[in-house]
Amino acid sequence: MTERVGEFVPTPRLLLGPGPSMVHPRVLRAMGAPLLGHLDPEFLRLMNEIQQMLRRVFRTANRFTIALSGTGSAGMEAALVNLVEPGDAVIVGVNGVFGSRMASIVERCGGKPVRVEASWGRIVEANAIKSALARSGPVKAVAVVHAETSTGVHQPLEEIGALCRQHDALFIVDAVTSLGGLPLEVDRWGIDACYSGTQKCLSCPPGLAPLTLSERALAAIRNRKAPCQSWYLDVSLIADYWAEAKRAYHHTAPISMLYALREALRLIEEEGLEARFARHRLHSAALMAGLGALGLLPFAEEGHRLPSLNSVTLPAQVEDAAVRAELLQEFGIEIGGGLGALQGKLWRIGLMGESSAREHVLSLLSALEVLFLRHKWISRPGIALEAASRIYAGDGRKE
Ligand SMILES: *Cc1c(COP(=O)(O)O)cnc(C)c1O
Repeated sequence: MTERVGEFVPTPRLLLGPGPSMVHPRVLRAMGAPLLGHLDPEFLRLMNEIQQMLRRVFRTANRFTIALSGTGSAGMEAALVNLVEPGDAVIVGVNGVFGSRMASIVERCGGKPVRVEASWGRIVEANAIKSALARSGPVKAVAVVHAETSTGVHQPLEEIGALCRQHDALFIVDAVTSLGGLPLEVDRWGIDACYSGTQKCLSCPPGLAPLTLSERALAAIRNRKAPCQSWYLDVSLIADYWAEAKRAYHHTAPISMLYALREALRLIEEEGLEARFARHRLHSAALMAGLGALGLLPFAEEGHRLPSLNSVTLPAQVEDAAVRAELLQEFGIEIGGGLGALQGKLWRIGLMGESSAREHVLSLLSALEVLFLRHKWISRPGIALEAASRIYAGDGRKE
């Protein structure tokens, strides 16, 4: 007899890694709604609503603001594959995994990446971009990562935006781990192409990449010498589906994913962006205080630490893989390890969207205390929870 595959019932997890983040039950419920056709007037109305809400989170008036089919990397690929033509020089800030990924896509487009490197854990200085612009001749675009998820670095953007205007270069920003979790001002900071992913601070399952393009970016795409080599990610074709006047079939929209995104954006509007950013800051501060008490110190440069992705270095005695396995098996908690050269040396703890909550911070710190006591890396219980509680006690008096 052939054995049938049983129903899949995942074990409940607390997702505190670099994504996906926790998803609100309302978002999961929205995904279970019956399907509509992708050209049904009711579905087209939902697309309009998503566009309006995305413009408000991106803080932009850009007409071209959509949710692309695919994960955050599809957003990255779409931005680059449409804007970069063979021979174009593109300055790319590289201080972690995602900056390198952008440089490698620029190369695949036939462009010439000019890497402006900074050590992992530090920001890319605006001055370094400035000198690269000064010495590189005509530059098509400057691309940087707002929230470098591999290191926990929060990249300042405003000054780089101004430099791009001065040099008539397009400004491309990866906002995968920032959109909906920390301030991002697409219009005010002069960003021409900005993409994100749904499974980080937007707290939706993975599968869509919000993308917004300025009129300057759209003009650059219209003036391409040859069509973009990707058919699926060609935004001039995709635009005809999202444009109200056309609604031309390009590919079938992932209907249920768009239901989910609409609900996640509604939750963001109910909370308010400022309140949401303050929540991310508060829980990050409490987590970092608790981790500090356990001897886990911040990895990213001071003053440039992400509230959505908390990176800490491990003391020599702490066994990375063993503790992360215990956290998952005994407590059902997922956190992230270091990537590349940082493997075994770093933890990356995501407090994104729904994951950014007091009960989650306290659960993780309690679990770590139990494990650290068992391994005899600390001698007194309560130290991490006390440190975090002090931050929470100060809340309310401050704001
Ligand atoms: C997660 C992430 C991506 C890639 O997104 P996927 O959804 O994994 O494709 C790109 N850039 C940054 C900064 C990220 O954190």
